[in-house]
Amino acid sequence: MGAGFKCLNCLDEQGMPGKVVPGDIPLCACGVDGRLPEYKNYIFARVSTHFDAPHDVLRGRGCGKRACDDKSTTGENVSSSGHTAAVTCEQCMKTDSYKKWAAIQGTPTIPEEHDMAL
Ligand SMILES: [Zn+2]
Ligand SMILES: [Zn+2]
Repeated sequence: MGAGFKCLNCLDEQGMPGKVVPGDIPLCACGVDGRLPEYKNYIFARVSTHFDAPHDVLRGRGCGKRACDDKSTTGENVSSSGHTAAVTCEQCMKTDSYKKWAAIQGTPTIPEEHDMAL
């Protein structure tokens, strides 16, 4: 259930390197195969952004855990956001917390700035 890969050897819709390669195998149609050391630097896994629900009391911060995993933390190497529109984790999107906040935050629009992992 990965978020797919990005191939830096190909251009995305905006003409920037990093075409999205869906699936669980880092193999792009152009021939870049991330399983081989030769191509390793040209294709990498997309990180999914988890939903970190806004804290009940404290403003401007999250609860510090992924909505999809109660025992998790949003530490290093974990991308999370309190904006439902920025979330790409399908598991998070299924949670009641996400649905509640999506309703509060309204129609998803891409925020100007994505929250980065702390
Ligand atoms: Zn490619
Ligand atoms: Zn998640």
